[in-house]
Parts: sequence; structure tokens; C-alpha cells
Amino acid sequence: MVMATAINKQKIVHQVFTALSKHVKAKPPESRPVLEQFIYAILRENATRESADQAFKGLLDRFFDWNEVRVSSTLEIVEALDGALPDAETRAQRIVDFLQEIFETTYSFDLEPLLEVLQKKGLKQASKQLGRYQAANDYAVGWVIQQSLGGHTIPLDATAVRTLKRLGLTEDASGLEALRTLVENQVPKAKASLFVDLMSHLADAHCHEEAPACARCPLRQACATGLEAKMPITPAAKKPR
Ligand code: SF4
Repeated sequence: MVMATAINKQKIVHQVFTALSKHVKAKPPESRPVLEQFIYAILRENATRESADQAFKGLLDRFFDWNEVRVSSTLEIVEALDGALPDAETRAQRIVDFLQEIFETTYSFDLEPLLEVLQKKGLKQASKQLGRYQAANDYAVGWVIQQSLGGHTIPLDATAVRTLKRLGLTEDASGLEALRTLVENQVPKAKASLFVDLMSHLADAHCHEEAPACARCPLRQACATGLEAKMPITPAAKKPR
């Protein structure tokens, strides 16, 4: 890979905003109750905002309330997700598990009292508490912290990690937490939500898991992998016959 240290990280992040902002418009975060933010995060992980919006709307349209979702089969939930997302069955099961756990612990689907508690605790403790739900993972916790508590964190899913790695932003960040800290240091809080949208768009439109479409990617001039793909093969690099 092209030496990532030679590429200024701030410049790469700047390029992400300038090259992609014309394709993805900044939208203010949706105001949702904490419970719904958590469910939305399950849908949003490894998906674009548009796909997650469509799937979330499918849930709201199909079911009367969250209790009806809880007692429904995963097949019914998958149908409600409207074909918008990959791994729909796994997501459906996580949603049911989450709702079941909330129901068993609070006898309701109202997590707003928890929000007040979390706000008083500080982000680190709040993350720990949210992470105790069986259906929680790093992305869901980060999403709720960002969207409901206004914390400066950037939820990173597998598609974002893959893309950041290819861009060359990860060479001195081993592990998800270190990578998230690195990105949080480069992206201002006011643009954190947009950055998540841009990463999802980039992964979906160009930076596919198999065969990334570097030739048409607007970031190819700033991306370590895109630059490397452009390099001619030198005679020395050719394999001997
Ligand atoms: S240039 Fe290629 S590897 Fe780099 S972000 Fe674009 S699609 Fe991904």
C-alpha cells in the first residue's frame, strides 16, 4: 500500500467532505426516542441512510406498536423491512431480542427515564450502561450516544472500517476504539453525523467489499488504495517467468 504516513489524514478527511458532499446532503439528526434510536441503529449498521429509513418506515407502517413487533415472528419483521437491507433476518432477531429485554426489565417500551440517567452519568458510563443490552454492539451504542445524547462519537460499522482502511486512515490505529478516536480527532462534532452518512454512501456506491470501483470513485486521488491501483507495474515487480 502507498505509505499512509505520507498522506495527511486531515487532507483525506477534507477530501471526503468536499468530494462526497455534492452526492449526500447534510440532514439534521432525526429526533427519536432512545428506544427507537437503538432500533434504528440496528437497521442502519452496514446500510445507507436511505435504506435504513425505508426499513424503519416499513416497521412503523406494518406494526401497531413496539409490543406488536416484539411478539411477531422474524419472518413478519423481515417482510416489513421491505427488502431494503442485507442480513434482514439477523437484524429482525436482534430487534425482537432487544424489545423483549426492555419489556422484561421495564414492563414498557419507554426508555426516556434511562435517557435522563445517562445524561447525568457522562458519556463513558452511559456507553457502558447501553452496552449491557444483549442486542447492543459498538455501533448501536455509538449511534445512541451520538444521536440521543449529543456526544462526539462516530459509530463505525464494518463497511466504514473497510473504507477507512483503504483510504489509509488506519495505519497507526489498531483496533476499533483506536480507529474511532483517530476519526473523532479529525472530524468536528458538528460534522460527525454527516461523516457517517458519507462513509455509508462511499461504501455503497464505490468502495464495495469485493472489487472496489476505484476508477470511478471521487476519492481516488486522495485514497491510498486508489493511488496504488493507478500505479504502473514496474519491471522489477513483475514475477520472473
Ligand atoms: S478509491 Fe477505491 S479503495 Fe479508495 S475509497 Fe474509492 S473505491 Fe474505496
